[in-house]
Amino acid sequence: MSNAQSRIAATSEAQRGAWGRGLVAEAEEVRPGLWAVALPMPGARMPSSFGYAFLGDEGVHIVDPGWRAEETVAHWERFLAARGRAVSEIRTLLITHSHPDHLGAAERLIERSGARLVMSAAEASVLGSGVHVGSDPEQQAARLARWGVPAVLRDELAAMSETERPSEPIAADRLLADRERIRLGGRELTAHASPGHTGGHVCFELERDGVILTGDHVLPQISPGIGLGALPGSSPLLDYLGSLRAMVRFDAHEVLPGHEFRFRGLAARSEQIAAHHLRRTRAVAALVPELGDAPVWEYAARSPWSRGWDAMSGFLLISGLVQTELHLDAVRSGGAEEWMRGEWASAQPTHA
Ligand SMILES: [Zn+2]
Repeated sequence: MSNAQSRIAATSEAQRGAWGRGLVAEAEEVRPGLWAVALPMPGARMPSSFGYAFLGDEGVHIVDPGWRAEETVAHWERFLAARGRAVSEIRTLLITHSHPDHLGAAERLIERSGARLVMSAAEASVLGSGVHVGSDPEQQAARLARWGVPAVLRDELAAMSETERPSEPIAADRLLADRERIRLGGRELTAHASPGHTGGHVCFELERDGVILTGDHVLPQISPGIGLGALPGSSPLLDYLGSLRAMVRFDAHEVLPGHEFRFRGLAARSEQIAAHHLRRTRAVAALVPELGDAPVWEYAARSPWSRGWDAMSGFLLISGLVQTELHLDAVRSGGAEEWMRGEWASAQPTHA
């Protein structure tokens, strides 16, 4: 893995330094007229998310407007004013996925600009399906029972269900299909379906600029969570592995992610993230002969955790149970076989 690590390199020391210190980086012009704008996330667990602004002759266009907060909107006002532009000039808001740190500011910006909202058709289904982050208490109680969580812990964990505020349902003006192209401010973007983090996540490739906007699909250091807004009947883990494998062909591009810092080494980083998840898949699979149809709780209790199972509580415990269920489902469906066995380079993406 040290070999892979050496192929992953930050392309902005300023962004990397700011992230490391928990600060919001200065906006950077990544290509002529294409800006990476770090946006504050007051009250959230992370310091910032990236919006990407296209400042051309045909108005202002933004990918991922950011967190639902006045401070985030004010940050856009200042950024645009400093470049002789205004919020009222925003024509398009495009999103990689519907989490509140990417879509959250959309409503306020649309109110003030009349911008059209564009997202993938699949992500519109995720938003409309009610399976989003921060599932309601009833759903949470049902999950805890299904997982086989001991009764003494259920009340405490049921209260953890609203740790992330869900995005409000919001209607899109245009829906994108996989591989569909869209023109923004004189540039052409291609949407590439990358389900896993959410069911309708997309990455946007700007071929002529040699960049790809990866949202939360691939980040330089953080291993993105999986299935945080999955479509019913889908397998977020298998979808995610396929979506990571699909990144290899964009390896020559500079990566503009949703958090942290821009970097090169997309194929190596995708492989690293896949290996991280597959270690857990293998650990769960190794327990199947002994535990069989046992509930998720028993698998989780026997799985390796960095701080040990006894240290798992609250949100960490829920997140661990969610992960365990995703891996167990993938193993039980048989779909994980090829990924666990195969070489990364020859493994076949399992989604269309
Ligand atoms: Zn995010």
